[in-house]
Amino acid sequence: MYKYYMPTTIFEDDNIISKSADIFKGLGKRVLIVTGKSSAKKCGAFDDVIAVLNSCEIEYKIFDEVVENPPIELTFKGATCGEGVDFVIGIGGGSPIDTAKGIAVLLKHGKDDYFEKLFGDTAYDAVPVVAVPTTCGTGTEVTPFAVFTHIEKKTKLSMPRRVFPIYAFIDVKYFTTMPSAVRNSTIIDAFSHAVESFISIKSNPYSELYALKAIEIFGRRKELLFSDQIDLASLKDFIRASTYAGVAIAQAGTSLPHALGYPVTFRFNVPHGVANAMFMTEYFKLSPPDRVETILKTAGFVDLASFSAYIDKIVDSVVGKLDVTAEDIEYYTETTMKSKEKLKVHPSPVSQQDVVNMYKKSFKFDEE
Ligand code: NAP
Ligand code: FE
Repeated sequence: MYKYYMPTTIFEDDNIISKSADIFKGLGKRVLIVTGKSSAKKCGAFDDVIAVLNSCEIEYKIFDEVVENPPIELTFKGATCGEGVDFVIGIGGGSPIDTAKGIAVLLKHGKDDYFEKLFGDTAYDAVPVVAVPTTCGTGTEVTPFAVFTHIEKKTKLSMPRRVFPIYAFIDVKYFTTMPSAVRNSTIIDAFSHAVESFISIKSNPYSELYALKAIEIFGRRKELLFSDQIDLASLKDFIRASTYAGVAIAQAGTSLPHALGYPVTFRFNVPHGVANAMFMTEYFKLSPPDRVETILKTAGFVDLASFSAYIDKIVDSVVGKLDVTAEDIEYYTETTMKSKEKLKVHPSPVSQQDVVNMYKKSFKFDEE
């Protein structure tokens, strides 16, 4: 049985938000806008949203306190700010859009027991969420997931399928202000979504169509990650690859690199996409060779060694050498082994020793 489900309506065009007043009018009279500290304003998306809301006479409240890798508690704070609204607009990278999704659940069902509402077994729904992405990596504008930092557990947790945005508005101009480190890390996040969904046992012909197209686009443009400037046509390609990869994980989910990367992001503040990239080579060594060969060929790498050299260069351009200790590896391994959902979709069983080895080899730990 194959299943494909994608309820998000995607609008992609120049100045798309200002052309979409009718869509916003249909969503209600009051809205909460969720953003990070400054990028939503810097890239122009915030002003475009305010202008369309004013033209539709929709009242708005603003929650602009979202930080990277947002802690779960922010959803409670955001829901307090947004009490009484009909819908939520998330503008930004994955962090604000994911937070908007969590807030939307609490606005519909109340803030008490918020951890249970976001992560428990009951699939609580949400008030409508509109996504305006400004990074080209997470694909959150078309996924039902949201990822939060769990401070006591010292890692990140993915809210299970709860909230697909109802609309995603994609305008290339919002992506032109990304610094190259954000741009590269998010492009690699999209690549890892495509790859992980493709290798997962949940992969199906529908998710594969999107995953392979995303990998192909990445492959065609991959050397641009070493340039300071990316032309608009290439940027549009990367944005589309990110959304395609989002469609793929909405069906098949993510797997080992995401599981291994979460605690490393917590400990060293490594940007999410780069945290996945660090483990990609070792992940490929544990994966079915025919799948890996298809990925490498589609992305235009002659072999695993050349892929590995490429990825190392990207990782080095964003983070320096991490001062990883034996205790870190022990803790990371313990945390990763608890990511049961992400481990069980790998095509072969993943042992604790496999995870230790992936960490050690990726960090070149025993070679020091
Ligand atoms: P992000 O954490 O949302 O933002 C990273 C940084 O980039 C922030 O400093 C942000 O500034 C800045 N920024 C964003 N857009 C910009 C722009 N257009 N111009 C200039 N600066 C910009 O980055 P992200 O990589 O997109 O999101 C990562 C989060 O998404 C992680 O928590 C990850 O686990 C999660 N994720 C979710 C899914 C999913 O399906 N839901 C999938 C993969 C990853 P401001 O703070 O000022 O906004
Ligand atoms: Fe991701």
